[in-house]
Amino acid sequence: MRSEIRNLLVSVAKPFRYVGGEVGSCAKGWEDAEVRICLVFPDTYEIGMSHLGLAILYHAMNVQEGLLAERAFSPWLDMERGLKELDAPLFSLESRRPIHEFDIVGVSLGYELTYSNVLAILDLARIPLRSEQRSEGDPIVIAGGPCAFNPMPVAPFFDAIVIGDGEERSVEMGFIVRDAKRKGVARKDLLQRLSELPGVYVPSIHREGARVGMARINDIETSPFPAHPIAAFAATQERAAVEVARGCTRGCRFCQAGYVYRPLRQRSAALAASVACDSISSTGKEEFSFLALSVGDWLALGPALESVQRSSTLRVNATLPSLRVESLTAPVIAAMGEARSGSFTLAPEAATERMRAFINKGNTDDDLFASVEKVFAGGFSTVKLYFMLGLPGEGEAEVAGIEKIARRCLAIGRRLHKRPTVTVSTSTFVPKAHTPFQWEGQISIEETLQLQNRLKRTLRGPGLEYRWHNANMSFLEGVFSRGGSELAGVIELAYKKGARFDGWDECFDISIWREAFAECGIDPETYLAARPDGFVFPWDCLGAGPSLDFLWRERQRAKDLAPTEDCAVGKCSACGICDPKIGLVNRLAPACHSDTPVTSQLPDRQEGQSPATVFRYRIRFSKTGRAAFLGHLEALDALRRGFRASGLPLAYSQGFHPRVRIAAGPAIPVGVESAVEFADVELFEEIDPLAVVNLMQGRLPLGMVVLDAALMPRDHPAIDDSVARMRYEIDFAGLPAGWERAVEAIASHKPFPFSRVRKDKSIEVDLSEYVDELAMSDRSVLGIHVSDRRPALKISEILQGLFAISEDDARRIAVRKTAVEWKQQESKDAQ
Ligand code: SF4
Repeated sequence: MRSEIRNLLVSVAKPFRYVGGEVGSCAKGWEDAEVRICLVFPDTYEIGMSHLGLAILYHAMNVQEGLLAERAFSPWLDMERGLKELDAPLFSLESRRPIHEFDIVGVSLGYELTYSNVLAILDLARIPLRSEQRSEGDPIVIAGGPCAFNPMPVAPFFDAIVIGDGEERSVEMGFIVRDAKRKGVARKDLLQRLSELPGVYVPSIHREGARVGMARINDIETSPFPAHPIAAFAATQERAAVEVARGCTRGCRFCQAGYVYRPLRQRSAALAASVACDSISSTGKEEFSFLALSVGDWLALGPALESVQRSSTLRVNATLPSLRVESLTAPVIAAMGEARSGSFTLAPEAATERMRAFINKGNTDDDLFASVEKVFAGGFSTVKLYFMLGLPGEGEAEVAGIEKIARRCLAIGRRLHKRPTVTVSTSTFVPKAHTPFQWEGQISIEETLQLQNRLKRTLRGPGLEYRWHNANMSFLEGVFSRGGSELAGVIELAYKKGARFDGWDECFDISIWREAFAECGIDPETYLAARPDGFVFPWDCLGAGPSLDFLWRERQRAKDLAPTEDCAVGKCSACGICDPKIGLVNRLAPACHSDTPVTSQLPDRQEGQSPATVFRYRIRFSKTGRAAFLGHLEALDALRRGFRASGLPLAYSQGFHPRVRIAAGPAIPVGVESAVEFADVELFEEIDPLAVVNLMQGRLPLGMVVLDAALMPRDHPAIDDSVARMRYEIDFAGLPAGWERAVEAIASHKPFPFSRVRKDKSIEVDLSEYVDELAMSDRSVLGIHVSDRRPALKISEILQGLFAISEDDARRIAVRKTAVEWKQQESKDAQ
């Protein structure tokens, strides 16, 4: 790793975002690939790694010979600043190559408020922002994801845009690029070739009136899906997620995803459960989830949940995304295990039956209250209710109804739970492309704020909570959802003025966007207005999504409060998506029974039930290279998941959320490498320590390796209480000027006062009591022996004091921890 990048990583927040090397990440060689694709997610690592679409694409490409897919995410503001100061390009996580060296850059457009981040990434990657500015040596920049259904505001920034299901089309595009590279095809001819694929929009080639259509996979049962996904760092990634259905035919008239991802295609229970088991066993995750737009409609849900609980080798809880209120069944609640102590989300969307008929949600208040009863009776303490504000025709009854429903749900909770909570969340209705409500207007920022303020006043009191979505963000989302390519200039200007992470409250600044709109001469408020019949939308020319006739018919039916049947189980309403000639039709999952066989080839469940007798093993592990930049919590998480995935007979703690019984030694500062880190883990069987080492191989991130293990006596003190001294080393070349003075001072055994400052609090310490020895060996390495004393000092604080340098400079010194000496027993030196 280049020393300046290392120095940058030790100075930014959450450096794990930039290091890669997770279990399950791609280890293909750069030179072995003919086409290299960098999959870019324009938000943080934690958000991007929760995105199933990214995981599917990464897997779909990397299983193909000749294709290599790596990842990059938006660097947080401190990292962006640091890269610019170093004049270093943004790099991929896997090979750390600059992004502009890839053949293809594939950008996920998950939501409109990432558009400024897209430009920040291109700029940091040294790729010209606009397609027309790129030349032969630049990567082909491709977008995909939900926002591609109205790509016009960002179309000038992309060479090609995939509309629809991306996994098969992206692989096809990868091979077209490979063939073009082999034959030396010019960029414009390559784009021409890509534009001929159904569902691929090439803005520089497709002119007005061109029909692009959609990319579709007929059957998700046979489409690529990662059974051994990346075990991402950070706790938000605790869940093994399996997509069980794509598309939704319920026909909620506001829901873009429900229309554009039609028809309904479902996975079989056996395959979904098998993939979930494999995913849990390979990542060691403690939760799993079945994902779909309306997962409660997946008939196999209850049996498949139960099947995973029965078949998984590991103790695991199910979590589910929000459910339609009437689709919650007792078996589903029962299968959710210990997770039931948490919260459950239901999405009534609107507070009156009239409005739910208008939006074709169709369920009744009684459906909702019956579900809430089941949730509280099932052991959940919190029910989260999700509503939209500003739906077309919304009146007093709908707004007042939110409080009425919340209070009634709370009353149900009080009957069934000691401390129930009802949390209401609202967001503003945004009229989305390709929905029957695309002609409707969106309420203004002021109207949203009025409604939110009213709910803040009424949804108060014990057990009631209210959360709301930022009104300015909804406004911007509405503008970009409906706008055309004239908005590209606004996005570029706002980016240049500093807009970043617009979906984050702490970063979003509407004044930047207001300035950019004003300077481009665009009135953003006009985009919120209702549209007349016959209005030509920017996305109409693409020919994607349901037919205009169908959408208009549905809009009229909404006004008549007429229900439209779910075509997966009722009659077809001729939306224009299915194409039986190519096998594109609704596919319900095969019938599922509770004894559905799961094909996972795994041994029986390994973990114990908090046994009375446990065997404590102390492992020594390394934390070097990339892993040196994992924080203590990330490293501990990686160990916990690695142990779970290892098949060792783990003992678990007791209580609602049983955890692996593991305790690590003192935290090592981020950036410090070590081959002498220790952790204790408890097993319910005595086994050969070598088996512990062997079973942990390949279960930890790159740079973390279990080196040895020992069975500890029952009454042996914890690691924290056993450490006497630690040895660190610094290479001569990395020492600051004047280091000799510190060596002389320590050798003199005189007091060496130092003020340790943390969070503006200062403590006076004597470094001579901490540093037993400071000596140069072989004229190449400075060795430092540090006693474990209280108050504890980090090695960077000790260096700061010894060398009289700033905290930042001290963190930049490359330090290795090479030995630990124990208070009474053994000493283990790094080899
Ligand atoms: S074409 Fe008919 S069956 Fe197919 S998704 Fe549309 S409404 Fe449903």
